[in-house]
Amino acid sequence: MTEARVLLVEDNRTEAEATKGFLEKYGYEVTWVETGMAALKIAKTELVDIVLLDLLLPDINGTEVCRWLKGNEDTRGIPIIMLTIKSSTEDKVTGLQIGADDYLPKPYDEVELNARIYANLRSKALQDALRSKNRALQEILKRVEVLAITDPLTELYNRRQIEVIVDREFVRTKRYGSPLACMMIDIDHFKKVNEEYGHKAGDLVLRELSGIIQGNIREVDTPSRWGGEEFLLLMPETDKEKSLRPASRILERTAAFTFPGMPEGRVTVSIGIAMAPVSNIETAEQLIDASDLVMYEAKRKGRNRIEFAKSS
Ligand code: GH3
Ligand code: MG
Ligand code: MG
Ligand code: MG
Repeated sequence: MTEARVLLVEDNRTEAEATKGFLEKYGYEVTWVETGMAALKIAKTELVDIVLLDLLLPDINGTEVCRWLKGNEDTRGIPIIMLTIKSSTEDKVTGLQIGADDYLPKPYDEVELNARIYANLRSKALQDALRSKNRALQEILKRVEVLAITDPLTELYNRRQIEVIVDREFVRTKRYGSPLACMMIDIDHFKKVNEEYGHKAGDLVLRELSGIIQGNIREVDTPSRWGGEEFLLLMPETDKEKSLRPASRILERTAAFTFPGMPEGRVTVSIGIAMAPVSNIETAEQLIDASDLVMYEAKRKGRNRIEFAKSS
């Protein structure tokens, strides 16, 4: 802390030289200026650890300099010790109100000034450390939050998060009557893919398929990994006809896609779509279940196809 840079703002040359002299003796690096404007310029452009600020200056008042430094994002964190001949309570209160960190009435002695500088620098260092720890913690928390809602393999939302989103959209649909399509996409005979090409190739199929899905939907649609080889896609403001287009594209593009590690192999999907609002579906969970059930109907009818849930 002894290499700290002190900005000394003092228009009285004799006092300034004395103060500068003993601060340097204590090992501080001292920049001395005589006016408020010069102080603002240095604080803005150079690294300053602490400001010793005279209250009465020839150009602008020390209180104005203080107000400006504390009101400015870049200089707010620099501790300011106000130096003044006046030791009236009123002056102290004004100084502290505009954000000065400490006060020292003149004439001050070396030991007290040094102690005040030390205390203010230390409290600033502690604050800085706390702030940077807080920042690190915030970042970790953010990362944990993302991890908690993301499927690591496909980087899509996981089941927990899509459930939250379906809940939310279902409420909107119920309230405003806007159409909502819920699409369950399940890979056909995926067990065979794993058996024939290995689990790694299987993983790649899941990743590529996630890409195919994302490439064929709108920004407002939400894809997710529902389970092992099942994807749930939620499409707000989408009626039956409108949902058929992306579903067909996903179906066709998957069937035509050459997946890495399996040049001869083909992968198909079965898709079940359920709509809301309909009278026989009263909850978000029922909507998902309906899309799952009708997806199995697509399986029974031969796979690589799309089925719609019957609405009543
Ligand atoms: P169907 O056409 O009836 O859907 O047949 P299927 O083989 O796709 O369905 P089944 O439910 O019998 O098998 C799903 C397979 O998906 C079994 C499991 O090993 C595989 N699987 C689930 N999650 C993963 C994963 O993360 N990576 C890989 N490689 N395979 C997975
Ligand atoms: Mg003065
Ligand atoms: Mg399957
Ligand atoms: Mg399945």
